[in-house]
Amino acid sequence: MSDTIRISEIFGPTIQGEGALIGQPTIFVRTGGCDYRCSWCDSMHAVDSEHRHEWKAMSASAIFEEIEKLSGGVPIMVSLSGGNPAIQNLKPLIDMGHAKGYKFALETQGSIAQDWFEDLDVLTLSPKPPSSDMDTDWIVLAECLAVSNSKPDIALKFIVKDDEDYIYAKDAANKYPEYPVYLQPCNHSITKDDIDGVINNTHWLINKALEDQWFEAIILPQLHVLLWGNKRGV
Ligand code: SF4
Repeated sequence: MSDTIRISEIFGPTIQGEGALIGQPTIFVRTGGCDYRCSWCDSMHAVDSEHRHEWKAMSASAIFEEIEKLSGGVPIMVSLSGGNPAIQNLKPLIDMGHAKGYKFALETQGSIAQDWFEDLDVLTLSPKPPSSDMDTDWIVLAECLAVSNSKPDIALKFIVKDDEDYIYAKDAANKYPEYPVYLQPCNHSITKDDIDGVINNTHWLINKALEDQWFEAIILPQLHVLLWGNKRGV
């Protein structure tokens, strides 16, 4: 593997806008590149190779220097996101940060298993539902859980756009009843702010899960979209 990491953007501190760490102060490290092309991806600037010229090849120490600068040297949760952050070797960065008291949370679709998942503090697996137009490899997803060795806190997160996605999420969650499950309505309007749309989709998803008596599911909209729309770098 290369000694440098392709970085789309590093920003913060801000708050985590979704999933298990919602509301928690964090620095975002968004890596460049993804093995998926989800139909509703809201991070194409970190996915599509047409944006590759905007990505920087950075060493782990240069990335950590930037994290320390942004956090004023005060340890904070670092959110490793993408793209798919699992396509690159992030272990040196995680080790460097841990030595200084920083924590690391990573979110991935679960299409690539890396041994260093066990070094994370939080691992969110977010397999993509049918509306993404991607296929889930359940064997690799199980490998992601196996290599993490139950060391990080693990959560499952599902984006739900329609009834078919809901069934997918419920079936997948039933395979892994030991992990908390977060459901997130799909942000349909990725090119413009549509707060009413986010709220309506959240109402739909809450009603659906409650009517279905899926009481273990935690249903959350993307908080950062409600607060800042689809603006980048907040
Ligand atoms: S896996 Fe995530 S980053 Fe990659 S295309 Fe899908 S939504 Fe975008």
